[in-house]
Amino acid sequence: MSAVILESVLTCPHCGHTQKEAMPTDACQFYYECLACHTLLRPKPGDCCVFCSFGSVPCPPIQQECICRTNSATDSGSNSPLKSATPPVGR
Ligand SMILES: [Zn+2]
Repeated sequence: MSAVILESVLTCPHCGHTQKEAMPTDACQFYYECLACHTLLRPKPGDCCVFCSFGSVPCPPIQQECICRTNSATDSGSNSPLKSATPPVGR
């Protein structure tokens, strides 16, 4: 289940220039310089990278582990045995 989009279209908030950029999968890009007006973009407060703030697609870490944004667990509550059966035998 690795349907991670690795390309995002950044939209410059200053001049409106859009630029498709490839996102690194192992790091977050914090700064991005607009190719049109050369404004150094920075993430908005609460966002981890410029792709989350200005991109059409959030960064790969956000796509993979969507724990910080979509916290709505689909708990249907149909079959949830709360009886602590056999815990994983470990240490
Ligand atoms: Zn710009």
